[in-house]
Amino acid sequence: MKSSQSAHGCTAQADVALREALAKAGWRMTRQRTAVYDFLRSAPIHPTAEQVFQAVRPCIPKLSLATVYKALEALVNAGLVGKLTDQTGRAHYDGRRDPHYHFRCLDTGEVCDLPIPFDPTLLDKLAPDLVGTLRRLGFHVTGHRLELLGQAAPGAAS
Ligand SMILES: [Zn+2]
Repeated sequence: MKSSQSAHGCTAQADVALREALAKAGWRMTRQRTAVYDFLRSAPIHPTAEQVFQAVRPCIPKLSLATVYKALEALVNAGLVGKLTDQTGRAHYDGRRDPHYHFRCLDTGEVCDLPIPFDPTLLDKLAPDLVGTLRRLGFHVTGHRLELLGQAAPGAAS
C-alpha cells in the first residue's frame, strides 16, 4: 500500500468521524474531501476556496477548483466546516467548529480568530431579555456571531 503522507504533510487517512458526519448529511467521503478537511483543520488562516485549492493541489495533482468548491459545499453542509461570507459574497472557510469570534480586515478580506473566549451570555449583556423579547416577536435565537471589522495596522503580525 502506498503511503498517504506526501512531502507537503497532507494526509489522506480515513477519518471515521469525518466519514460518519459526511454520510449523515448524505455525502460520500472522498480523497478530495478528506484532503480539504485536513487542510482546513490545520490552517492557521480562514482560507478562500482558491487558497484551499492552491494548498491542497500538491497532494492531489488532478484536483480542480470545481472539486474544491464541491468538497467545501459538502463539508459545510455536513456541519464540519464554517463558511464566512462578506458583503462582496466572497467566502472564507473555517475548520474550527467551537464557538469563537472573528476579526475581518476590510482591506484584504482576511479573517482571523479573536484571542478571547466565547461568551454565551453576551446577548444578555447587550440587552437584558433580548432573547425573550425576540421570542415574543416570533424569532427563535439559536446562537450568535461576532465579527469585528477594521484594518490591519501596517507591519502588524498576522
Ligand atoms: Zn474562526
